[in-house]
Amino acid sequence: MVRHMSTETNDGRTTRGLDELLHDRGLRNTPQRQLIYRIVASSPQHLSAVDVQRQLEKAMPGISLPTVYATLDLFADLGIVRKIALADGPVIYDTGQHNPHAHMVCRRCGRIFDLDIPPVSDADATAAAHQGFAVDSGDLVLHGLCADCRALASTSAAETKASALTR
Ligand SMILES: [Zn+2]
Ligand SMILES: [Zn+2]
Repeated sequence: MVRHMSTETNDGRTTRGLDELLHDRGLRNTPQRQLIYRIVASSPQHLSAVDVQRQLEKAMPGISLPTVYATLDLFADLGIVRKIALADGPVIYDTGQHNPHAHMVCRRCGRIFDLDIPPVSDADATAAAHQGFAVDSGDLVLHGLCADCRALASTSAAETKASALTR
């Protein structure tokens, strides 16, 4: 349910969407919420609260990290972003507009990649159902080495080998 979020950085359009969402919940739109919404709408797909705070610094100096977290959590409730908990890293907010998906995290460079499979497979849901558990949602986060880091690792391994041979 993130269809309402436009990729266009046309401020009027994106904030109007936020107005409606907040209004439906009886919440007020604030300059702070608008600014964070704009950052989320015009940013790369995966953001941490610290990334958002950094981008806010100019427009809203002194905004606290807990405030940014609270706003992003509210946006997650509203379906604007998706919250992904990584095993050992910050909570990441996914601004992706497509369906829920799984993620791959590189242990070397820390980059996060989308993997276009459902975060909870039918098999997972069925296994949970066997224990009487009804699955609402889930996150699949795979850890490993990305293509770039793998290429780098094999180059440096080859270099080490080559220099060992010339010695
Ligand atoms: Zn990597
Ligand atoms: Zn993603």
